[in-house]
Amino acid sequence: MGDIFSVRLAGNIASKKAIGSLEFGCKYLGSKLVVVLGHSGCGAVQAACDSYSGGNIGEIIKLIEPAVARETTELDDRASSNKEFLAKVCELNVDVQIKQILLRSTILQEMLAKKQIGIVGGVYDLATAKVRFIENDLIF
Ligand SMILES: [Zn+2]
Repeated sequence: MGDIFSVRLAGNIASKKAIGSLEFGCKYLGSKLVVVLGHSGCGAVQAACDSYSGGNIGEIIKLIEPAVARETTELDDRASSNKEFLAKVCELNVDVQIKQILLRSTILQEMLAKKQIGIVGGVYDLATAKVRFIENDLIF
């Protein structure tokens, strides 16, 4: 309590309210590091892979679809039942959400430019309980 300002949403999506919460955490509470943490076997990413769009879930899926589109190595089986495909999209989704945060938040862009905060992406493996940080997503 007081050590981590946690913003938790299905699919670790950079929705407008999530970005606003990150801005609040950094600007007003003094958080120094934004960690966008996806996880293996993410159900929201699975739904995006399978193009599910029922109810309000579609609003979440829309924000994950760019990660599905960015996965171009799996050509035949692009359903969530393909575990390789799902794992690749989970990782790409972390990168996509980081890019969205930076694209849509002037506050966080400025804090990053002044080296007041850093941003890092990672994927939590449910099987091992380990986090693998994504080198390309280390932004300081
Ligand atoms: Zn998930």
